[in-house]
Amino acid sequence: MRRTWAALLLLASLESAGQAPAPKETFIALEGPALALTHVEMYDGRGGDPIRDATIVIRDGRIHALGPARVVVIPADAKVVDLTGHSVSPGFVMLHEHMFYPLVQGSYGAMFETFPKLYLAGGATTVRTGGSMSPYADINVAHEIAEGKRPGPDMDVTAPFLDGPSPFLQDFRIRTPEQAREMVRYWASAGATSYKGYMSLNRAQLGAIVDEAHRGKRKVTAHLCGVTYREAADLGIDNLEHGFLAATDFVADKKPDECPNPLAARASYDALAVDAPEMKALQKHLIERKVTLTSTLTVFETFASGRPIAPPEALELLIPQLRESYLARWSQIQAMKDNVWTRILPKEMAWEKQFVEAGGLLVAGTDPTGYGGVVPGFSNVRQVELLEEAGFTRAQALRIATLNGAIYLGRDKDVGSLAEGKRADIVLYKGSLASEPLALRQIVWTMKAGTAYDSKKLLASLKGKVGFQ
Ligand SMILES: [Zn+2]
Repeated sequence: MRRTWAALLLLASLESAGQAPAPKETFIALEGPALALTHVEMYDGRGGDPIRDATIVIRDGRIHALGPARVVVIPADAKVVDLTGHSVSPGFVMLHEHMFYPLVQGSYGAMFETFPKLYLAGGATTVRTGGSMSPYADINVAHEIAEGKRPGPDMDVTAPFLDGPSPFLQDFRIRTPEQAREMVRYWASAGATSYKGYMSLNRAQLGAIVDEAHRGKRKVTAHLCGVTYREAADLGIDNLEHGFLAATDFVADKKPDECPNPLAARASYDALAVDAPEMKALQKHLIERKVTLTSTLTVFETFASGRPIAPPEALELLIPQLRESYLARWSQIQAMKDNVWTRILPKEMAWEKQFVEAGGLLVAGTDPTGYGGVVPGFSNVRQVELLEEAGFTRAQALRIATLNGAIYLGRDKDVGSLAEGKRADIVLYKGSLASEPLALRQIVWTMKAGTAYDSKKLLASLKGKVGFQ
């Protein structure tokens, strides 16, 4: 048989694929079947004070026992790991994530190789995508992670963006409510487990999406502008993205079903007082309709002036072109004399705090879009820091980024906090989270279902790769 070069090359690549070691093993820092983590400072994700000297016993991937060192009995067969000088929190449950990254204006590149590992390195053990540019790949990656074929967080995969006349060439453009229903049904059958509505939807389309999704017992979130938050709440939506900074409820001459100019929307937040009664009334309405709000302060921060640059370790992950374009844009933003984002970012923080104080469910996401610089892994932690800047305590901010997300996903019996019987999804930090603000950035490993993945090793394997794989 005569083999062509192409066939030989194909054969060679198949052979090397067959010989490749299971990727999971390369990054493992610690594994069961029985472990006892001792002398660790523990935040359990429920928002209360930490236990300064805790023991956590893990058996077969689940938390078998936990509590103050003096009360927890260590089983004889457990491997004891002394974690003096370290802290733990539950694995992050992040709800506005993507498997894509902005390349050039309006074009997004698929990052299936790098992003699941980055999320895991940065402490996320569960993520929901907030819209997809390559939904089949997202679904396949989620399945491969669930089957243990690659390391990464559990993924609740949204269908592709459900949008009307979208400006993005990668998106389908829904024309009728019936077509919206067809999309919802099709993507459920293809494996999507939730939905993300997008800006140009009108009320009839969004209503059809919510109704059809709920028939299939699935949830809908959205980033809207043609439909106001109040209208979306009345249509029965489950979740709204980007805090209050996608609300068009405060634009004076807003026409039904039409997106106002984005500048007008931003001007409306700029004009709104932090304690405006209209905002309080909207918060109350969302809470009454049980609408969850996703905080994405990380992406908004990149648009405001006077904010820190992305950490050098995050920038090292990017291909040079993306690093340069990020740095150029970030510098331009710092030089701006009159930047509306600089004024509305602290307002948004205050509004999110008010929403929680009024009884609303706030969850956390990072949204690695904008012009870049929101790099998964690093951005999980940054989101928690920004919630702290908004006035939440460390314990409260950690709860928003862990248990609250699990509650929204309906998975809080299994994940989201450290409790007996729950899956051992744990982040280990060097230092004391209670007394060292920056300890949050010192992630040593992320444990998912009892297997701990070395954060530094994961990051080292991805240097210079974000942007092309
Ligand atoms: Zn997004």
